[in-house]
Amino acid sequence: TAEKGSGTRARPRLTVLAGPSGVGKSSVLEELRGLGTEVYYSVSVTTRKPRPGEVDGEHYHFVDRAEYDRMVDAGELLEHAEYAGNCYGTPRRPVEAALERGTPAILEIEVQGARQVRRAMPEALLVLLKPPTWEVLVARLTGRGTEDPAVVAHRLKVAEEELAAADEFDVVLVNTDVRAVARELLTLVVGSPTERVSS
Ligand code: 5GP
Repeated sequence: TAEKGSGTRARPRLTVLAGPSGVGKSSVLEELRGLGTEVYYSVSVTTRKPRPGEVDGEHYHFVDRAEYDRMVDAGELLEHAEYAGNCYGTPRRPVEAALERGTPAILEIEVQGARQVRRAMPEALLVLLKPPTWEVLVARLTGRGTEDPAVVAHRLKVAEEELAAADEFDVVLVNTDVRAVARELLTLVVGSPTERVSS
């Protein structure tokens, strides 16, 4: 590799945080931000309509289907997937730029996208966030109150499939305590000393 220095710099890592809708990925990432380490948080594009309180360019880049298709065709997305009737994708360039300048990057995406990242970047670390119990997930998805019952039912069906894919992940974390999970995730994102590379 073209690392400067004498092998004491950790390889900046790409971490994928996946897990069913409602499991608490966003809360964990919010907690992680509070821990202060420099991490690049990818902002996805989506064709979904913004929920109340969601800010364009912050939670997502909200795009129409034509723009999304253009990005897919131009190869501008690192991965992309359809979920519950909407399209989602990770802009490639900002992630690559972060890794190039030595900043670890993290993606919060669903499982099909995680599989694509695995193929595109085999060195990426895939983390699956699981709910403590199935009942907790049902309660969280129902209680969110922003989606109609049919959408919730669909999300639960997808959730079941996603949790069944646990063996495809490098690490499985159980979201029992947001702060504890965020701290565990931080050590994974930053990497351990045994994963340092030499020049
Ligand atoms: P929501 O509509 O609830 O914000 O997101 C629905 C699902 O899409 C969640 O599991 C979320 O993690 C996932 N998601 C968000 N952005 C992306 C992305 O860029 N790519 C993929 N594959 N999934 C995404």
